[in-house]
Amino acid sequence: SNWQFFLLLSGKPLEGVGEAILVLSGKGGVGKSTVTVQIASSLKMLGHKVGILDIDLCGPSIPRMVGVEGCDVLTTPDGKWIPVSVNNDKNFSVISLAFFLDSKNDAVIWRGPKKNAMIKQLLTNIAWDVDYLIIDTPPGTSDEHISVMENIRDCPVKGAVLVTTPQMVAVDDVTRELTFCRRTGIKVLGIIENMSGFVCPNCSECSNIFATGGGQKLAEKYSVPFLGKVPIDPSLTKCLETGESYLERFSQSEGSKIMKNVAECF
Ligand code: ADP
Repeated sequence: SNWQFFLLLSGKPLEGVGEAILVLSGKGGVGKSTVTVQIASSLKMLGHKVGILDIDLCGPSIPRMVGVEGCDVLTTPDGKWIPVSVNNDKNFSVISLAFFLDSKNDAVIWRGPKKNAMIKQLLTNIAWDVDYLIIDTPPGTSDEHISVMENIRDCPVKGAVLVTTPQMVAVDDVTRELTFCRRTGIKVLGIIENMSGFVCPNCSECSNIFATGGGQKLAEKYSVPFLGKVPIDPSLTKCLETGESYLERFSQSEGSKIMKNVAECF
């Protein structure tokens, strides 16, 4: 693939970015990418210029979610990658590792140095022009996270949003994320409890499929803000599977109300 060529051309990290927000989770499948897209959409709906940087090496899924899967990334004359616009709106754009992979599973078998080089590229070689950049990171706290932090040490980073599901197992994993943030000096903007209950489309009653309140308890225990609970929303799943008219459908979803409050706090 073509990324090695650009290694010589990397510029300053996160140039053209007003402020960066990291989205972290203890493990995969809790809705980190979903929350990334929701935060970005909410900030966009508040009138900001927003970008999403998808460096989830385990499964870069953002392009599919916002309907730009398989798009080509163009370059500026000085060799920077130009973010791909969502719905042809240049004030809502995405760069994902997925755009640079020959096959979806490529990155999974990469060794450390190659991962770190790619992360560096994605943090330093993009022609952003955004107020906020929401960064979707891999799950856990791996070498990749350290690599991210090393590269953006001197950048304006607003902080990290931690995503968990309500069960205690997921909550335990988030504890490690909190420790990571403390050690690396990233401010914790707060915890979001995703898949928190299921609102029945027929009777509007909320069933708590998993235990509830884990995220809130964790936030209290570590004195960090609790940003809210996002219920399981079948219409949201559907819109994320296809990416079709993403913003419009998202604005009607239950999660969008919560995320709007979250975005207004930033
Ligand atoms: P992660 O990035 O943590 O691996 P994803 O954001 O990819 O997780 O979410 C995993 C799956 O769960 C996706 O198919 C997504 O559409 C779905 N999902 C996440 N949050 C919700 C929610 N609140 N309601 C319905 N489906 C959700």
